Amino acid sequence: MAVDSSLSSPLGPPACEKDAKALRFIEEMTRNADTVQENLLAEILRRNAETEYLRRFNLGGATDRDTFKSKLPIITYEDLQPEIQRIADGDRSPILSAHPISEFLTSSGTSAGERKLMPTIQEELDRRQLLYSLLMPVMNLYVPGLDKGKGLYFLFVKSETKTPGGLPARPVLTSYYKSDKFRSRPYDPYNVYTSPNEAILCPDSFQSMYSQMLCGLLDRLSVLRVGAVFASGLLRAIRFLQLHWSRLAYDIETGSLDSEITDPSIRQCMSDILKPDQHLAEFIRQECQTENWEGIITRIWPNTKYLDVIVTGAMAQYIPTLEYYSGGLPMACTMYASSECYFGLNLNPMSKPSEVSYTIMPNMAYFEFIPLGGSKAVELVDVKIGKEYELVVTTYAGLCRYRVGDILRVTGFHNSAPQFHFVRRKNVLLSIDSDKTDESELQKAVENASKLLLKECGTRVAEYTSYADTSTIPGHYVLYWELLVREGERQPSHDTLTRCCLEMEESLNSVYRQCRVADNSVGPLEIRVVRNGTFEELMDYAISRGASINQYKVPRCVNFTPIVELLDSRVVSAHFSPALPHWTPERRRR
Ligand code: AMP
Repeated sequence: MAVDSSLSSPLGPPACEKDAKALRFIEEMTRNADTVQENLLAEILRRNAETEYLRRFNLGGATDRDTFKSKLPIITYEDLQPEIQRIADGDRSPILSAHPISEFLTSSGTSAGERKLMPTIQEELDRRQLLYSLLMPVMNLYVPGLDKGKGLYFLFVKSETKTPGGLPARPVLTSYYKSDKFRSRPYDPYNVYTSPNEAILCPDSFQSMYSQMLCGLLDRLSVLRVGAVFASGLLRAIRFLQLHWSRLAYDIETGSLDSEITDPSIRQCMSDILKPDQHLAEFIRQECQTENWEGIITRIWPNTKYLDVIVTGAMAQYIPTLEYYSGGLPMACTMYASSECYFGLNLNPMSKPSEVSYTIMPNMAYFEFIPLGGSKAVELVDVKIGKEYELVVTTYAGLCRYRVGDILRVTGFHNSAPQFHFVRRKNVLLSIDSDKTDESELQKAVENASKLLLKECGTRVAEYTSYADTSTIPGHYVLYWELLVREGERQPSHDTLTRCCLEMEESLNSVYRQCRVADNSVGPLEIRVVRNGTFEELMDYAISRGASINQYKVPRCVNFTPIVELLDSRVVSAHFSPALPHWTPERRRR
């Protein structure tokens, strides 16, 4: 029931008074986007005036945008690496921020093969919380009755380490779930999860997933929305159900918890939730034992109104699979965020994935936009509809004019705040889950594997390309190799080629290896050897479609279906990585 009409918002009638306040806040920020940005930058510059970084640029106390932009360079992570290393090593002087760096957030973006370390300060947690608090008020405008049930969300913490100077280094969501903001959140009827905190906070991914799935099954009729952060995470949960439904059904039948769940706090809280239910166990067996899993989400959770998962950017590859498992439920992409900074939210969350636009909230950080192909950064309110830009942020934690690496296209405005379609992340060739592999990383991996191939059987890799195969869960990297095997020479053995797969995995960055080892969210890398002449055919195909012979370069990654089909039709043998690569949470020093 909507609250009294005097609370109404241009976005629509709010569901409750708390929502009205949140919607008013969105209106206020987006109406005054330019002033908010101007004041926010001035506040950051005043606060951080005495930091080593800002002093270096002699702002002379100026806090205006023109001086700031004329004196400070636009930078990348590599430019800040020395300062970040000093902070990580324990230098507590105000290097980037006047406020103490409270922890490092480990980005899924890497530098020299390791996760980037993003400095953050205590109060940034409030800013992130603020953005989270706007999501349900917007959703409630489109989906009524979400206070009548629960959300089945698969949420996980990941391993964390300490830097040499003793600061925690962990992913931003791990930091958030472990914070009091999340753990002691006040009851909100619109935001009730089936997963208990104990299950979300368990560092063992199997135990965490098992108990979250069990709770979701036990409370299946209350579930109104099913979600995970990214689409790949939700598909992993479905795969988990495919593999473990009979154990889960047994627990439900007997009211006893599987012995592999050893975490005492999970056992304790599950003892209150888990009661024998023969009827439910039978239902789950019936639904899961059939070959056909089409629409499984709505079969098991029939009251689900939408999926809450990000399917924009690299995650768009999972849309068809999610449609299959959910029987075509809407997919809501609610927010756009990163370890550097949370950016904004989708004010029309039930829009089709291809039409999703995120409204950048001007109170989160100071934003600038470099037009693609240009160099002069423009203000948030000055971007032009239809144009593509690279995002640059200046944060309270001390990143100044920092390139995030995301390319966005302006689709419109809400008041004076622009809305953006997420186009892509710069330089990412392959991605299955949170892993991101660029061209040079892939090249290095192929080189290392080629050395092994050459040493073991004298064969060279003549050409290669790659493909992110998401037809199985989890998805995996496929490398198409054309080998230089001369007439009369023997083909490399299957054993050698499997070791080449592992060699490549060992060479890839730590996020890839973590996905393989700790998260099990990426499957074993595969080499598909194609017959001689295949890459020439690939070139012929490209030329027939208008590519110039002189400028033709082998694409290092393919995703256009006819090309993948052409390659697949020329495969002579396929080989998978036989083992897991090495990975530990500890970072390698440069
Ligand atoms: P991380 O620093 O590991 O948290 O990753 C942040 C990056 O994930 C962003 O810079 C984007 O490239 C990507 N990302 C975050 N939210 C979205 C979204 N809603 N749609 C597409 N990509 C996203």
